[in-house]
Amino acid sequence: MQKLEQVYEGKAKKVFRTDDPERFIVDYKDDATAFNGAKEGTIVGKGVINNQMTNRLMVRMEKAGIPTHYVQELSERETLVKKVSIVPLEVIIRNISAGHFASRYGVEEGIVFDAPTIEFSYKCDELDDPLLNAYHAVALKLATWEEIETIKKYAFAVNDVLKAFWAECGVTLVDFKLEFGKLSDGTIVLADEISPDTCRLWDAKTHEKLDKDRFRRDMGGVEDAYAEIMKRLLAHDAD
Ligand code: UDP
Repeated sequence: MQKLEQVYEGKAKKVFRTDDPERFIVDYKDDATAFNGAKEGTIVGKGVINNQMTNRLMVRMEKAGIPTHYVQELSERETLVKKVSIVPLEVIIRNISAGHFASRYGVEEGIVFDAPTIEFSYKCDELDDPLLNAYHAVALKLATWEEIETIKKYAFAVNDVLKAFWAECGVTLVDFKLEFGKLSDGTIVLADEISPDTCRLWDAKTHEKLDKDRFRRDMGGVEDAYAEIMKRLLAHDAD
């Protein structure tokens, strides 16, 4: 597989074309941003952790019957993925109140919900990723009803697998963001990453934050938190 020119550079990853038109290479960076790019920084070693963690979790998803874009890990920071067109929706599942849910609805963090919630925002930096519902997404032609139903089904299935796995690791899965893509034949697959950048992960006993909130909120110990989460994943993810 030959890595050809860069086709896209996002906040945390670069994407490269390959000599196979149906495959891309994703290259994870240590760059971190928050608040839609207003806060910028570096989390040393994050790219390696997020690459390896995402890949192991994607394999778990595939085993649970959730199709993903994952093909093969190529190096510490690089992964071969199926070429997709990203559905421009950020899909957020929450098990416990935190972040924007807490601020938007004026409640404290840490309320455990009876059932998980799902919400969508429109992936659009210029508009600050506005919240929208399925009717809005269909009106804007971001996805069809059928695609939204598939995405919802997969997102809740990801939550079941992820929540159970992190619980084994002594970690509480508070909330997370997923992105889905479409293969050239229209099949919806899970894409992007599953990492401490995109999930809120709390130590199950102490509720210590082991995710990007340490960066967002200037709490310090960011690298240590990412390393701790990776260590716990590796201890419970025997190949
Ligand atoms: N999230 C993300 N990218 C975004 C927005 C949110 O990965 O652009 C993740 C975030 O890490 C958290 C979940 O989605 O795990 C819910 O985030 P929330 O809506 O509370 O917004 P935040 O406070 O993270 O901006």
